[in-house]
Amino acid sequence: MLNIVLFGPPGAGKGTQSERLKARYGLVHISTGDVFRALDPESELGKLAKSYSDNGNLVPDEVTIQILESEVLKHPDAKGVIYDGFPRTSAQAEALDKFLAKKDTSVTLMLSLIVPEEELRTRLMGRAKVSGRADDADPQIIQNRIDNYNKSTAPVADFYDAQGKLVEVDGVGPIDDITQRLFAAIDEAIA
Ligand code: ADP
Repeated sequence: MLNIVLFGPPGAGKGTQSERLKARYGLVHISTGDVFRALDPESELGKLAKSYSDNGNLVPDEVTIQILESEVLKHPDAKGVIYDGFPRTSAQAEALDKFLAKKDTSVTLMLSLIVPEEELRTRLMGRAKVSGRADDADPQIIQNRIDNYNKSTAPVADFYDAQGKLVEVDGVGPIDDITQRLFAAIDEAIA
């Protein structure tokens, strides 16, 4: 089973590139951000997730890990999965390793999209016009997401680096060029 963690700060292009990886390798795409946004906003879980995500804070690990595991279990016959926006903390990374080990599989590689902060801010402000997302519209919330990424999420790359699974990919330039870089990294890992 091909298990690809697509990693990077908010606005790095994980969602866009996931769609392309999914099509080429026949993978299931799981975005925890998309799962949270699809929850009924009137439900307890929906309200809880929104109270964090609208302010650019991370949803607590316990809830996020459970949501992720139940999404994976919805696809028992998957050839592979792209994890987009998960794991975002060291605890989530450890939970994913344990969960996959129980399924006799493991993370194949982490692809980390590298994009400078100034570019992220520009992209997210632009996306706000079309996404309708509360967390894209406000420069302070964007900054909080970037700060939380640097503090809690960036160390997750070290976790996979220690396992020899981290590949950094330049996330700046034409979308198609970035896709080609990702394809090359995956093809090399599975060759
Ligand atoms: P982006 O990568 O652009 O910030 P996402 O759609 O991945 O957007 O996530 C939106 C929000 O959903 C995050 O700011 C956070 O509140 C919540 N979220 C998504 N994934 C996780 C996760 N793995 N752990 C905790 N919170 C998460």
